[in-house]
Amino acid sequence: MTRGLLIVVSGASGTGKGTVCKRILDETPELAYSVSATTREPRAGEVDGREYYFMTRDEFTARIAEGMFLEFAEVYGNFYGTPLNKITERINRGEDILLEIDVQGALNVKRKLPEAVTIFLLPPSLDELKRRIEGRGTETADSLQRRLANAVAEIQIGREYGYVVVNDSVERAVAKIKAIIAAERCRTERNLDKFSLEGAV
Ligand code: ADP
Ligand code: 5GP
Repeated sequence: MTRGLLIVVSGASGTGKGTVCKRILDETPELAYSVSATTREPRAGEVDGREYYFMTRDEFTARIAEGMFLEFAEVYGNFYGTPLNKITERINRGEDILLEIDVQGALNVKRKLPEAVTIFLLPPSLDELKRRIEGRGTETADSLQRRLANAVAEIQIGREYGYVVVNDSVERAVAKIKAIIAAERCRTERNLDKFSLEGAV
């Protein structure tokens, strides 16, 4: 059985990771989403077990000690972590899995699982990034400044990733990420061994 792909989409806050990943998942039913755990409060409409597994800091700390996470990170004051058990199971079953996680988390995944397909989503410019965060209307002035300062540092880490995709339009970014997934599925090592040469003359 060929193992599934672990696809990691990451990038600075406000770039459009959530928007782009939601579209890819809607359009690619065979791609599974890895639901993360978090200590942040649920937002309106979020359901436990669908967007996130919501837990207290104590619960999260206990899960870290149990070795439950493939990676975890503190992102703007809350903890987020990728549960390891489901990922291993699903990849071994041949399923492709999408993770949408922050930059620290993506680097940790790559360290632990170098075969992960890492995609850095880049905003068209810092000005546009600022407009997107402002337009989302979720941040205070302070928090906006913090995110922009972090974005500069995070974008420099972009070169550690396997791929960079500019999120200029959602359609184009989605098409490029789908193309990357299709190309990764065609990698030689994933396919040639499955081809039977039995009966060849
Ligand atoms: P992230 O998950 O990276 O923090 P979001 O998906 O929440 O980012 O997107 C931030 C804001 O930018 C949202 O208001 C979203 O609608 C908008 N956005 C996302 N992608 C684009 C795009 N290609 N062009 C214009 N606006 C976008
Ligand atoms: P939000 O609170 O807006 O849903 O997410 C905040 C940030 O946390 C986003 O950058 C998102 O990608 C990141 N994030 C979500 N889940 C995980 C995770 O499991 N691990 C890490 N490292 N980051 C995550």
